[in-house]
Amino acid sequence: MSSTSSQARARAEELRQLLNRAAHAYYVLDAPEMEDPVYDRLYRELLDLEAADPQLITADSPTQRVGGAPASGFVSVRHRIGLLSLDNAFNNDELEAWYARLLKVLDREPADGAALPALAMVGELKIDGNALALSYSEGVLSQAATRGDGEQGEEITANVRTIASVPLRLQLENPPAWLEVRGEAFIPDHTFAAINSERASRGEALFANPRNACAGTLRQLDPKVVAARRLDFFAYTLHLPDDWQPGAGDPPRPTSQWESLRWLRAAGFKVNPNAALLPDLAAVEAFFEQWDSGRRTLSYATDGVVVKLNDLRLQDAAGFTQKAPRWATALKYPAEEAPSKLLRLSCQVGRTGVVTPVAEFEPVPLAGTSVSRATLHNADRLDELDLHAGDTIVVRKAGEIIPEVVRVLAELRPAGSQRLELPHTCPECGSELVREEGEAATRCVNSSCPAILRGALRHWVSKGALDVDGLGSKLIEQLVDRGLVGSLADLYRLDGALLASLERMGQKSADNLVSALEDSKAQPWHRQLYGLGIHHVGEVNAKALAGAFPSAAELATAASQTPELITAVYGIGAEIAQSLQQWFATPANQQLLSQLESLGFSLAASEQERAAAAERAEASTALAGQTFVLTGTLPNLSRSQAKALIEAAGGKVSGSVSKKTSYLVAGDEAGSKLTKAESLGVAVLDEAGLQALLAAA
Ligand code: NAD
Repeated sequence: MSSTSSQARARAEELRQLLNRAAHAYYVLDAPEMEDPVYDRLYRELLDLEAADPQLITADSPTQRVGGAPASGFVSVRHRIGLLSLDNAFNNDELEAWYARLLKVLDREPADGAALPALAMVGELKIDGNALALSYSEGVLSQAATRGDGEQGEEITANVRTIASVPLRLQLENPPAWLEVRGEAFIPDHTFAAINSERASRGEALFANPRNACAGTLRQLDPKVVAARRLDFFAYTLHLPDDWQPGAGDPPRPTSQWESLRWLRAAGFKVNPNAALLPDLAAVEAFFEQWDSGRRTLSYATDGVVVKLNDLRLQDAAGFTQKAPRWATALKYPAEEAPSKLLRLSCQVGRTGVVTPVAEFEPVPLAGTSVSRATLHNADRLDELDLHAGDTIVVRKAGEIIPEVVRVLAELRPAGSQRLELPHTCPECGSELVREEGEAATRCVNSSCPAILRGALRHWVSKGALDVDGLGSKLIEQLVDRGLVGSLADLYRLDGALLASLERMGQKSADNLVSALEDSKAQPWHRQLYGLGIHHVGEVNAKALAGAFPSAAELATAASQTPELITAVYGIGAEIAQSLQQWFATPANQQLLSQLESLGFSLAASEQERAAAAERAEASTALAGQTFVLTGTLPNLSRSQAKALIEAAGGKVSGSVSKKTSYLVAGDEAGSKLTKAESLGVAVLDEAGLQALLAAA
């Protein structure tokens, strides 16, 4: 046995054990231990290992089984027709690969270079519930069973009879002696929330998601409990006996999935109204995309769409694999969680000296982007995670939210691996790191630490501050590493010839940079103040402070002598006043201010700025006390224009939505902020709404 194959064998065994345990918790106990996308990824890894070396396949592999064994407490029934799972595709490439395999089994592969033949398909929403098989004898519901392991399920007829949308008698003139209908039992979102809050009030464990709640409910031994939980049901598959003849008023025998859905509706079933007949693969892709956002407006959970070949004869011809039909696949939406392997723990030293541990891991696609780093925040979080070298971690990234490490899969930890901790010395300058009593942050307190200096320089030249073009991170790194710049003031002492001699710099860009630096001296006072990088003084606070204290000297005096004048400024609290006091009292900062002054900085508002501030103070403050958040693209106003208008009317613009937000101004392609605002009940305005509010102000 080669070493790779013994490695693969060990990994396959490890994955089998972990996945089997997770599947038991999920299917049998209705209490998942693992996030679904994490299960899916590890499952896919096992499938790949088995595909590369089929000898690795064992009878107990989760890839060889559908679902979980029927639970005890119910009579087990054998399905007349196997009730299988669905294969998954996680993106368009995988969808196309599925389609190519389908064409191959159907013997319809295109000749070299020819276009793919189009086969009509039905797109349905993938309802996140539980599959049921309903038998009707002479048109009357005679048996309902869960999927179980695909061959045998649990007989739960009494429970299913309580589901109002399951017809007890079919609306058919000539019902066959037997027929079977399959579909999804599910719990609508509001019912799920009510069930969980009731369980919480009784101190019972909460259901992880509507699907598990539904499975748990269907397995209740008391049908009265099931009735109280108000399950719902969408039908999607019809099995009619070959000899069935429709009565005069009955729908004709379907020849396609699309007609089956129509037939089911006519027979009295609830069929999901969002299914669509799709002529080709491009239409499938569009349907998938459409429902990515569309599904958020639904009142029940979905975890993808199901694509089914429309023609029933072609479905028959395509047949089944051991676990799933070849003629259908589930297209799943991008995962927001995934497992990955930790490569290393690195540390970032920010401009305030705070040391942030960062997990670097194998890249994983999450919420549409590739993610390979996530902040671990601080030493406490690192401890809590109990991270070890080589660990498999669960990473989460939802929409615009910053990626995070959720937990460690300790079961997959390499033997003898070491626990990871923050270093005791600064990775940049080697000085001892400090963690103050009661503080979460660990800091490097060496003010000449190159990382702190680089951060301060990056901040000083950034867009909202002095906005100096042509001074990127790489150049800053060179300047600091070569000892050419030791403070913000040193930037203004650089000469063109020296700059031109640096890597990737020519004379022209050097000259441009020197003049951009010179021009930056004329930036308004509030930008200079923001650029100094004083703790808690962000763009908004810098503006407010600069308006109230038109020079550094006045602000410094107030900070040391009359902090109450500082806290009297709208939006400025004691924490900020204290941070200003500390900053101005530090000799190195006093020295920096006098150096900047001697280099030509006014560190004060110009006449024009003073006049404008006075005018603003007199102008309407109708939006005072109101906080706005901007998201998406507005039709006419840029973000900064909208922000300026709101601020001019006394409103505040913040970056994130919270309960305190007064309005979310949403343009096109508004993302997670909109969802959050809606869930918090924050009022949402479009551009016209904002303009109306401003006009009224
Ligand atoms: P599946 O849920 O991915 O797909 C098959 C099921 O889709 C069918 O059985 C049916 O119930 C359902 N479905 C919904 N709408 C449908 C429609 N319109 N047409 C046809 N079917 C439709 O496959 P599965 O085998 O039931 O379960 C695998 C899923 O369970 C994965 O998502 C996996 O993440 C999850 N799982 C999670 C854990 C865990 O530990 N978290 C463990 C095991 C399985």
